[in-house]
Amino acid sequence: MTDVAYKETDVLIIGGGLAGMRAAIEAHDHGAEVLLILKGKLGKMNTGICSYHFAAVGPWGDPGDKNELHLEDVIHAGGYLADQELCKIMIEELKDRVFEFERYGVVWDRKSDGEMDPYLGAGHSKPRTLSTPMRQAGVDMIHALRSEMRRRKISLIEDVMATRLLVKDGKVVGATALDYLNGMLMGIQAKSVIIATGSHHQVFPVTTSPSVPGASGGGAGEAIYWGGIRVGCGHGPGKVLRPSKP
Ligand SMILES: Cc1cc2nc3c(=O)[nH]c(=O)nc-3n(C[C@H](O)[C@H](O)[C@H](O)COP(=O)(O)OP(=O)(O)OC[C@H]3O[C@@H](n4cnc5c(N)ncnc54)[C@H](O)[C@@H]3O)c2cc1C
Repeated sequence: MTDVAYKETDVLIIGGGLAGMRAAIEAHDHGAEVLLILKGKLGKMNTGICSYHFAAVGPWGDPGDKNELHLEDVIHAGGYLADQELCKIMIEELKDRVFEFERYGVVWDRKSDGEMDPYLGAGHSKPRTLSTPMRQAGVDMIHALRSEMRRRKISLIEDVMATRLLVKDGKVVGATALDYLNGMLMGIQAKSVIIATGSHHQVFPVTTSPSVPGASGGGAGEAIYWGGIRVGCGHGPGKVLRPSKP
């Protein structure tokens, strides 16, 4: 018979990319007990393979640059498919994230005079894009957030796939999951559930995005089914999807 493990936490986070880890840190810092579960290993997801050019308007860029211009670029490069309200929130918070990552140990490219060294990234009308010296900012950011999670002793379980959200009286109260390495089912009760399962490129028959396990769309699909999600601040020239047969 298959074993079943029960767990209880304040905040359950499904997904261990940049979004999931950052959410875990925020929830923990607000006093919540946090459990993060993820399919696969930390670091082996979209965030881990992307070169991660981090575009943000800040003192490092062109003095004429502003958030409104960045927003226009993002909406345009995303083929007008993105949720514009979400994009606006993201863009307004990016500058703080750049400084925050620096505090967490990420070293952004700098010029010889010590100033940050932005460049004109694809799809951007101003030089506002930052990276790290080895052009592997995704990996650098994962290392930084993982260290912050460890420092806070946030609980993390790898190789566990969330299968369904648990809903009671119209409210999400947890999730079921499969610990596929040990052949064990899990029932996790939580006051809040944050779905950070990454993109859903692989649900489209045609996409230029690589096939990574985190991009299956399962998490977003489950949330959409229960009516509790806003997805989509996609940006990326050459990466616009053709959802003819989603
Ligand atoms: C080749 C490439 C280059 C890129 N370059 C850039 C760039 O330069 N700049 C930029 O801003 N963006 C870039 N991106 C996009 C960026 O990588 C993603 O938007 C970002 O990493 C998404 O982070 P995330 O935390 O939302 O998802 P992910 O990093 O994909 O993490 C999703 C997590 O959810 C887990 N998961 C999924 N389903 C389940 C489930 N059912 N149960 C449990 N866990 C689950 C996965 O295992 C993973 O841990 C690039 C992407 C790619 C693929």
